[in-house]
Amino acid sequence: EYGVKYVRAQVGSISETPGTNNLRLKYECEDGELAEEEFDMVILSVGLVMPKGAKELAVNLGIDLNKYGFCKTNEFSPMETSKPGIFVSGAFQGPKDIPETVTQASGAASLATGLISSARGTQVTEKVYPPEIDVSEQPPRIGVFVCHCGINIGGFVTVPQVVEYAKTLDNVVYAENNLYTCSQDTQKKITEMIKEHNLNRVVVASCTPRTHEPLFQETLREAGLNPHLFEMANIRDQCSWIHMHEPEEATIKAKDLVRMAVAKARLIEPLQSLPLDVTQKGLVIGGGLAGMVAAIGIAKQGYEVYLIE
Ligand code: SF4
Repeated sequence: EYGVKYVRAQVGSISETPGTNNLRLKYECEDGELAEEEFDMVILSVGLVMPKGAKELAVNLGIDLNKYGFCKTNEFSPMETSKPGIFVSGAFQGPKDIPETVTQASGAASLATGLISSARGTQVTEKVYPPEIDVSEQPPRIGVFVCHCGINIGGFVTVPQVVEYAKTLDNVVYAENNLYTCSQDTQKKITEMIKEHNLNRVVVASCTPRTHEPLFQETLREAGLNPHLFEMANIRDQCSWIHMHEPEEATIKAKDLVRMAVAKARLIEPLQSLPLDVTQKGLVIGGGLAGMVAAIGIAKQGYEVYLIE
């Protein structure tokens, strides 16, 4: 009736056609067919409404919402709410995706730390660690901790099988599975097992070292081991996620990754960190609006800043 054609599909990309300024959409239809079409306007319709509690939160904090129920902010200061000292980031301010939310959160953190910069460092207490155990003369005694990540890994990889396999590997003196290896309880358990079994190398088979390696290294250090006597096998991204339709193969691959991590753990040696002086000055390249705001943000935090245009 209105000439609307409804296509259920996944859009892969939108690009501008040079010359016409039309927009070219590439999409995958439900039957897997790839298609391309050109339009003179593309509208992204996001079905997002604020949760019920958002209004209550705004009232309690004394901040204004806009007519759509999202946090009211100024176009040029999207992290500042109507109340000084309260900053916003993410979907509370309006529909947005994760990268934009993360960028905005950095901006909000910069504004907040600018406000309290005079207190920076005034309440720092230095963490005291136990003396580091000298493992140089010891043969490797490796502990392996295999994570279920709830059903994230455990729903696709047979974790107990991986643990039993790990126990058969040379130098592995202890192996167990954990529901959530990054939980506080498990950090305590890892520390206890390091002491009880005199572990001098630790392997965690769970997710990515990019996000979780520092946490486990800290646990090793707290248990008296050098934090670099640690190795990680990523059986979540590399096994359960990408082989979720082949659980047997996922389990076989998890065993392979654990075997490789254990092989590497046998050879790793302690590393020492060296403190280095840091130049406490900022450099912002690009003097446009974003660059100027970044430079002001650093300056408000009390640092000398150079802005290059
Ligand atoms: S360590 Fe990684 S895989 Fe395990 S529970 Fe935590 S996030 Fe999930």
